[in-house]
Amino acid sequence: EQKQLSRLRKLPSMTTDGRRIGLFANLELPREVENAIQAGAAGVGLLRTEFLYMNRPTLPSEDEQYETLREIVEGMNGRPVTIRTLDIGNDKLAPALKDLMVETANPALGLRAIRLSLRHRDLLDAQLGAMLRAGAHGPVRILLPMISAVSEVKQTRAALEQVAKRLKKRGVKIADPLPPLGIMIEIPGAALAADALAQCSDFFAIGSNDLTMYTLAIDRGEEQVAHLYNPLHPAVLRLIQFATEAALRGRIPISVCGEIAGDPKFAPLLLGLGIQELSMAVGNIPRLKQRIRGLDFAAAARCARIIMEQTDSGRIAMLLDDFNALAT
Ligand code: PEP
Ligand code: MG
Repeated sequence: EQKQLSRLRKLPSMTTDGRRIGLFANLELPREVENAIQAGAAGVGLLRTEFLYMNRPTLPSEDEQYETLREIVEGMNGRPVTIRTLDIGNDKLAPALKDLMVETANPALGLRAIRLSLRHRDLLDAQLGAMLRAGAHGPVRILLPMISAVSEVKQTRAALEQVAKRLKKRGVKIADPLPPLGIMIEIPGAALAADALAQCSDFFAIGSNDLTMYTLAIDRGEEQVAHLYNPLHPAVLRLIQFATEAALRGRIPISVCGEIAGDPKFAPLLLGLGIQELSMAVGNIPRLKQRIRGLDFAAAARCARIIMEQTDSGRIAMLLDDFNALAT
């Protein structure tokens, strides 16, 4: 099996009818870089930066963050690294940020992720500065979590330009040109406003985990309602479809980086909807590649069309299972 996997690494990630699909890695820790390379990742589609803030009493400086990010960028050896700004709050917490967080009745709907970063500009500036500097050592893209409005993208882009100017003035080497600035589509309102967001963003990354949670009002960590958590709910699929079509219309790249991207079962549907980049836990890359190499894109597109006409998620799951059983 080891042999088969290493052979697979060298083969292109392409459907039987020649559509290329980019397979990227989701990283939570720097030490996963080696595995990502081993697995044949085309790059990092999502670097969760929360690790920089974990297990420590104080906030990391820009310098400190830069050193760590640079190692990751260098480790990926010319492959693009998509670095997400801090996504703290609700399910993700860190003691160093305790003083910035406020007690709130609904943490999932509160001051978190990009909202927290924009509230505490020193925090955001340190992140952006570190990313800009790491971008001098290899291709970097900057990704913003929990975006709900165009204004948040514009504010962050202004901050990025300001930080870049300041660093340049000091003679610090940074990415040139500035890295692409993209956003997570993980709030239903963002998916529905995808046309406007595509005008001010350089790429989209669909976070199906949170998109499912917020669309269905099911806490992703709540056991009592876990049976209702379903990314195959027609509402979630319509939002994915709408955001994908908006990205195509706006001519910006779009990827999926939630859990469904790493499950081969969903591949025909996501590809069929027009997704060409998937980002997943490193361990899932080989089986996704295997699945894609067995898929006919035209058939997947037909399957997706039929699925998008359905009203019942049980029926959708069955159609997808049937298609996968036929096509493997
Ligand atoms: C998501 O929400 O789908 C996602 C990829 O981000 P995270 O799981 O880190 O919230
Ligand atoms: Mg998320």
